[in-house]
Amino acid sequence: MLSPYIKLKDNCVLCSKLKNSQNDPDFLFDGGHNLYVYKSPFAEKWPGAFMVIFKRHIYEQSEIRPSDLPDTLHSLVCFEKAIRKVTNCKRINLVKFANVAHHLHWHIIPRYQNENFSENCSWELQDKTKEELYKRIDKDFFNKDNPIYNKLIQESLFEIKNRSSPYFGCALFLRPVDLNLRSQYSKYTPDEIIRMARENPNQWECLLMKRNYYDYAWDFIGGNCEINEYPEFGMMREVLEEVGWKIEKYKEVTRQWKMGAIKGFVYLAIPENIQFLEEEPPRIHCEEVQTVKYFNLIQVLNDSLFPDSVRGRISAFLNNKPDFGSIDA
Ligand SMILES: [Zn+2]
Repeated sequence: MLSPYIKLKDNCVLCSKLKNSQNDPDFLFDGGHNLYVYKSPFAEKWPGAFMVIFKRHIYEQSEIRPSDLPDTLHSLVCFEKAIRKVTNCKRINLVKFANVAHHLHWHIIPRYQNENFSENCSWELQDKTKEELYKRIDKDFFNKDNPIYNKLIQESLFEIKNRSSPYFGCALFLRPVDLNLRSQYSKYTPDEIIRMARENPNQWECLLMKRNYYDYAWDFIGGNCEINEYPEFGMMREVLEEVGWKIEKYKEVTRQWKMGAIKGFVYLAIPENIQFLEEEPPRIHCEEVQTVKYFNLIQVLNDSLFPDSVRGRISAFLNNKPDFGSIDA
């Protein structure tokens, strides 16, 4: 929906296109927070091309508010994915001109296998006829009834709805070094465990996993939330997927920020099965996890073997900081 509070400009052709989208034959769908999607003028020669218009009257990408940037970029990528999937094109041309209409918009143009000038930019080829552009044309390719845009709308909305959430949820598993205390673990509440570990961090250990992908670094068990999934439920789902443990009790201990945005939530977590305290805790096989191991909290804090985000979480936890910033996330 176009919010009635959005300030549009009277004499801007794209602002009036936004305002009159319901009666516009080229309007395709509402692309979420920041974008409306239309059939591009390029679609006449490259069926499937989108024109994506920013929902406020600004001119350049650098005028997008930082809080709107991730959604905008992510949405553009979703549309590109949908176009690639539906059209089976050879490549995508993504362009932002705004030379004529001074309002931020992009064209996402599929380039096809059987083009004669595939190394030229699509905007250089505007004066070519369809017959000149393509080696051969399927008779329905340029047909008005080509169902391509219905499929593109469906696929784009699916991509937007199912894109991953920008947040992660991860679990802090703690165990005391002292075996007597460890044997009584199930008696304690999360608050009591948090208090004891903060009072005596040298006597407590945390469980980390070594990733079996990307950078193979040590990390907390957990992962990215799904869209519309609360981070605590994301944490519980990821723990179940990665080690097979059901979480019985948990409590948020800190939130990780990066460049002005929350990246994730860290929970002290206690699984149903107390075997998680063992030296080699029983766990399910998961491709993403190479191994898991307990480390002393003070060692994690001081050892550059551990990524900045892991040390930052432990430091924030021990210092009772509800929020902390990290260079990696
Ligand atoms: Zn405008």
